[in-house]
This record gives sequence, C-alpha cells and structure tokens, in this order.
Amino acid sequence: MYRSVNEFMDTVVARNPGEKEFHQAIREVIESLWDFLQEHPRYMHSKILERIVEPERVLMFRVPWTNDRGEVEVNRGFRVEFNSAIGPYKGGLRFHPSVNLGILKFLGFEQVFKNSLTTLPMGGGKGGSDFDPKGKSDNEVMRFCQSFMTELQRHIGPDTDVPAGDIGVGGREIGFLFGQYKRLRNEFTGVLTGKALNWGGSLVRPEATGYGTVYFAKEVLATRDESLEGKTVAISGSGNVAQHATEKVIELGGKVVTLSDSNGSIYDPDGIDTEKLEYIMHLKNVERGRIKEYAAKYDVEYWENERPWKAKCDVALPCATQNEINADEAQTLIDNGCFCVTEGANMPSEPGAIDIYLENKILYGPGKAANAGGVSVSGLEMSQNSMRINWTREEVDTRLQNIMRDIHGQCVKYGEDGEFVNYMRGANIAGFIKVADSMLDQGVV
Ligand code: NDP
Repeated sequence: MYRSVNEFMDTVVARNPGEKEFHQAIREVIESLWDFLQEHPRYMHSKILERIVEPERVLMFRVPWTNDRGEVEVNRGFRVEFNSAIGPYKGGLRFHPSVNLGILKFLGFEQVFKNSLTTLPMGGGKGGSDFDPKGKSDNEVMRFCQSFMTELQRHIGPDTDVPAGDIGVGGREIGFLFGQYKRLRNEFTGVLTGKALNWGGSLVRPEATGYGTVYFAKEVLATRDESLEGKTVAISGSGNVAQHATEKVIELGGKVVTLSDSNGSIYDPDGIDTEKLEYIMHLKNVERGRIKEYAAKYDVEYWENERPWKAKCDVALPCATQNEINADEAQTLIDNGCFCVTEGANMPSEPGAIDIYLENKILYGPGKAANAGGVSVSGLEMSQNSMRINWTREEVDTRLQNIMRDIHGQCVKYGEDGEFVNYMRGANIAGFIKVADSMLDQGVV
C-alpha cells in the first residue's frame, strides 16, 4: 500500500512515461483525496486508486485521408475509454495538432470525475486526433471525419460510448461524423451528442458549457453575497465555450473585456456587447478568422502572442485550453483585484497557479465542476434521444441550472474548510466517491 502521494505518483509516472498532463491531473486528484483515503481505508485495500488511474481501454488507429490536391495525408486517431462504472463512456473528441495519448488520458481521467458530479449516469472517456481543422476546406474536414469514423464506429454505440465535441470539433464535425456512422451501421441512434436540432440534437447544447460555467460562477459568487452585475470579466479563448460564457456574462450584467485565440488577445475596456459578440461568432464560426481582426474593427488593443491575464478584472474565466494560467499570471490577476477564477476549460490553471488561488483564498471553481454543464446537457440529449422526444429551451436550461447548483452543493459539502470552501477538493472527493463505490459494488473489474 502506498504511504504517500509521491510514492503513488512515482508508480504512475513510471507506468505512463512522458505523459506530463496526465501526471498533473492525477496528482491534483490524489493530493485532494489523500486525507479522505486515510480515513476510508477500504478504497486503498481494494486498490481503487491503482484501478481508477488505469483506462479500461485505449484505442489508437490510423486515419488516412485525401486532401484537396489529391495527396494522401495520415493522422492518428484515439479513443480512451476510461471508466464505465456509472454509465457508458462519455466525453468529447478533440481535433488539434497538440493531441497525443497523454493529453487524451488526462482529459479522460478528468471526465470520469466530472461526469460523476453531474448526477447523470455517464462514465468517462475522451478521444480525438492530431488533425488540425484550421485552414482546411469543408471537403477536407468531411473526408477526414469520414475516415476517422470508419474506424471509430466499431468501438462506440449509444449504450457503449457516446462521443461529443471539444476543441476543433463543433457542429460541422459532429455532422460529418454522425453521417458516416449512420451510413456504416444503418442505424439512427444517439451515438454522438452535440447534434444539430433537426437530427436529434438538444436545445441549449451548444451554449451549455459556457452558460454552465457562468451559472457555476454565479453560485460561487453568491457565497460571498456577490453577483456578476457590474463586474469586469476577463475571458480567454474565442471558441464555443468562450463565446457562450461571454453571452451569459453580458446577460447577467457583467462586462467582458478580453477574449483570445492561439495567436493573441484583445482588450476592449468598454466591454464586448451583444453586437460585438455577434461579430465574433460570425468571425470564428463562419469565416474561421483570427481574433486580431476584432482589434482592427473596433480599434482596441491587440496583445500579440500574449494571454489576457494582465487585464484588470474582478472575475477570470479561462475558456481556451489546458495550462493557460501560470503562477505569475495568477499572481498578476490577484494583484489586479481578481477574486474569482472559474474554469470553462479543462485544467487551464497550472499547479502553481492553483496554489496561489488557495493561499489567497479567492473563489476558485475548478474545470471538472465548473465546465460540467456541457456534458450535462449531452446527458440530457441522450435521454431525449432514448425517449424520442425534445424538451423546450426553458426545460433544458432549467435542468442545466439545477445541475450546476447541485454540483456546487456537492463541492461545498466535501470542500468546506471552516469559512473557506476548497472547491477543488470538494469536486475531487464528491466525484470520486460515486465512481469508487460503484466500482466496489461491481467487484474486481
Ligand atoms: P473551440 O475549438 O471551440 O475553441 C478553443 C479556443 O481556444 C479557440 O479560441 C482556440 O484558439 C483556443 N485555443 C485552443 N488551443 C489553444 C492553445 N494551445 N493556446 C491558446 N489558445 C488555444 O473549443 P471549445 O471552446 O469547445 O473548448 C475550450 C475548452 O473548453 C477546452 O479546454 C475544452 O476541453 C473545454 N471544454 C469544452 C466543452 C465543450 O462542450 N465544447 C465541454 C467542457 C470543457 P485557436 O482558434 O487559435 O485555436
């Protein structure tokens, strides 16, 4: 039996060499759980830790496709089926050149705890490819998606594994993937979520991660009798999550002053209003342009190759990617008066940044709790597909708000530390208990 977190991590690192994001995600969870595990030795005795860090299955496959010039290109496809103790594997697909097995294992691991928190019956998984949709034509993206699904379809199904979108996988890609699945399997089922409304999608799914992140921030702020009304908010990213987080912050009376993409950030001290947001949505979702163009159009500052965290703000919502806030940036945020960081992205804060949030006792909502709204509405999409009905926008949105409130409640229950709530510890313990107990119930599996 392991006597310390470090001893356990030495084994994890030796068994998963070079997968640094995966190590980082595991260390964060195990450190949060350690005291709890000493008080509940049954988990250690039955080797739950050793089992829970090992994916149930990892698939890796070749994805050959032809570009518009008629040349063959080869990418690598992955699906990590991490844990099915509480339901079918569920989690997004990421298409980005940085994708590798270690990144998808980290995302799959996080997904297990996140899905457990949602109160819905979903196991955890994640997949994707090192394919870069940027600069590709629609036809190239379609041919890639068809090739990817030609292999993936053997491994997924509405009761087995239900992928969704993530970075680089939005409505267009889900459409191409679904079309190919249907063609190969000759069945119309809820095998993917994030589908368009005409063919099995759920209202509010596109908005759900961003909205959910803001609903979570609202809950967190309410514990200090605060709200988003009148607050200045820094957001990173300009994709699905960032756009809808911006929309909801505006609706709740906050002022969003930054957005970014992988080339740089824009700083608009007057705030991004609904009209400017519409421009961004068109720029990013239709023209597939760069955020720099916003700076030119509205004559605001553009910070080339810089992240937005030097902007003065009350609330920060990182919504781009992993490890996008380091310790220095966390300190800058706090020095500038930021007292709430709520994560729309997965693991956007480096461990040193989290230490600074906790030392300064600011409100810190970790991604696995705060961004669980997306997968929650994916779960609701699965329910609607099974029942072959569609809920109204109000019905889905109300359920989403209730789920985010419930997740907040679980974090408080397990993360309370005197006056302070350590949401990270609360999320990790609450997420763990349900999965670990289910694994114990199901024997040595
Ligand atoms: P999108 O692809 O729609 O947008 C991603 C945004 O982040 C883009 O602005 C992109 O810029 C930027 N970005 C991506 N990689 C990097 C990088 N390495 N450095 C700097 N910026 C980067 O993805 P989503 O909005 O769906 O996802 C954003 C985050 O939210 C991810 O961490 C994802 O895992 C998480 N998430 C998403 C959910 C969903 O439902 N979509 C659910 C839960 C979490 P560029 O265009 O230049 O690449």
